[in-house]
Amino acid sequence: MSECQDIVIIGGGLTGLSAAYYAMEAAKASGQHISITIVEKRPELGGKIDTLRTQGCVIEKGPDSFLARKLPMYELAKSLGLESELVSTNPNARKTYILANGKLHPMPAGLVLGIPTEIKPFVKSGLISMGGKVRALTDLVRKPRQSTEDESLGHFLDRRLGPEVTENIAEPLLAGIYAGDLRKLSIQATFPQFAQLERTHGSLIKGMMENRKAGNSVPGLPDVVKKTTFLTFKNGLSTIVERLQEVLLPHVQLRCSAGASELHKHEDGTYTLKLSDGSDIRTKQIVVTTPSYDAAPLLEPLMDVTTLEQIRNVSVANVVSAFDRSKLPNTLDGTGFVIARNEGRAITACTWTSIKWTHTSPEDTMLIRCYIGRANDEERVDWPDDALKRTVRNELKELMNIDIEPKFMEVTRLHRSMPQYDVGHVQRIASFRQQLSKSLPGVAVAGGAYDGVGMPDCITSGRKAGEQAVAALLNGSADSDASVS
Ligand SMILES: Cc1cc2nc3c(=O)[nH]c(=O)nc-3n(C[C@H](O)[C@H](O)[C@H](O)COP(=O)(O)OP(=O)(O)OC[C@H]3O[C@@H](n4cnc5c(N)ncnc54)[C@H](O)[C@@H]3O)c2cc1C
Repeated sequence: MSECQDIVIIGGGLTGLSAAYYAMEAAKASGQHISITIVEKRPELGGKIDTLRTQGCVIEKGPDSFLARKLPMYELAKSLGLESELVSTNPNARKTYILANGKLHPMPAGLVLGIPTEIKPFVKSGLISMGGKVRALTDLVRKPRQSTEDESLGHFLDRRLGPEVTENIAEPLLAGIYAGDLRKLSIQATFPQFAQLERTHGSLIKGMMENRKAGNSVPGLPDVVKKTTFLTFKNGLSTIVERLQEVLLPHVQLRCSAGASELHKHEDGTYTLKLSDGSDIRTKQIVVTTPSYDAAPLLEPLMDVTTLEQIRNVSVANVVSAFDRSKLPNTLDGTGFVIARNEGRAITACTWTSIKWTHTSPEDTMLIRCYIGRANDEERVDWPDDALKRTVRNELKELMNIDIEPKFMEVTRLHRSMPQYDVGHVQRIASFRQQLSKSLPGVAVAGGAYDGVGMPDCITSGRKAGEQAVAALLNGSADSDASVS
């Protein structure tokens, strides 16, 4: 058996790497040597982040960018010396379309997260009926609900803006982030700011208008963040994984192809982790950053893991097609489109990748990425590659009149990759964490299954768990005068 490690981080996705990085920084700041190990069951690090660099193209098989105003990703990139690698979306391609009633409609100006913040363009839009628009605008005078009890995002939007806005606008835009069912997703866990705005402004539309004004004048925001909604890295998101690996390597043990398979608790408060390669690690602190369905069997012999088992995870796929740009119709004037569920299409959204992100392909190539699968509509994800490619080509022909052979197509399936934050999620996770700290002191869970699915949220979650593990070690060493190894 190897010597006792201070901290073991299970899972080498962005959460695990961030936990390790910030734990390492906290240890350095304290002047103590703290030994940290990451164990990752796959041969490579990065988890869902997966950039394919081929034929001059930068293709994201998982996430493709992050919200610029959620600063943890920008701050991590900066602290890793990657600021100059950041790229924003094409400023000349601001339009996004929504497919509704069989037609692509430009998203009305001023729509923020599906909520209208400019009345005129919303009223002029062909996306919903006149009755639907009038219903939505009653939000301005409708009584607010004062209760802070959780409800579904769909129910909240139905109440405030009416079902037509929920289904034709909000659902395709917001559900895309979770591939979820709006009428099951928790408002507290997904967009708590909406419920807050209802309480403080009496109206969602008024609150979003105020927020937008205030947001445009937040002092101290870095220029690169102010200019764009999304950011990514010019050589793909794997850039941050590669850089983290490089920075961690001299200080942190990185053990790939070593899945954690069993956890044992000792009377002295330490733990032994059995790994799939047959080895054991003894440790004082553990941060579990795997998906919840991988964390559950690990913790299950030692505590009740029903909460983890109840988190549903939706499977999705995406198909990237590379076309000869000169042969395409010259009508791609935006970033792509999303599709309302009631349109009955196989694809749920389509990004005109080379237009949205000009760095992703050579001049003569156009990348188009189509998404498949969402809650209650996951069967197609397991269709064979040929069937998925055929479906995408048919839908691109019907919706965009693209009827040429692609140069190549890349299919990616991400099984059980989108955790669903159902109503009551925040409360259930808080109770689970309380139980965890009682049953298994020194063990924490972090990551996309719990504290927000966006990459900046994963960094925050990993950072908090990593720093808390260091603090616990330092407090323990101060209390017992046992030095950290
Ligand atoms: C298709 C898709 C598109 C997305 N798009 C965006 C986007 O554009 N912007 C955005 O901000 N977010 C996006 N997300 C969300 C974001 O990618 C994830 O929330 C985030 O990457 C999750 O990171 P994580 O480290 O928590 O989990 P993961 O990336 O899942 O990492 C967990 C790691 O744990 C490992 N593991 C599992 N079990 C064990 C075990 N027993 N022992 C050791 N290791 C184990 C896994 O192999 C994996 O590497 C997207 C997600 C998907 C699926």
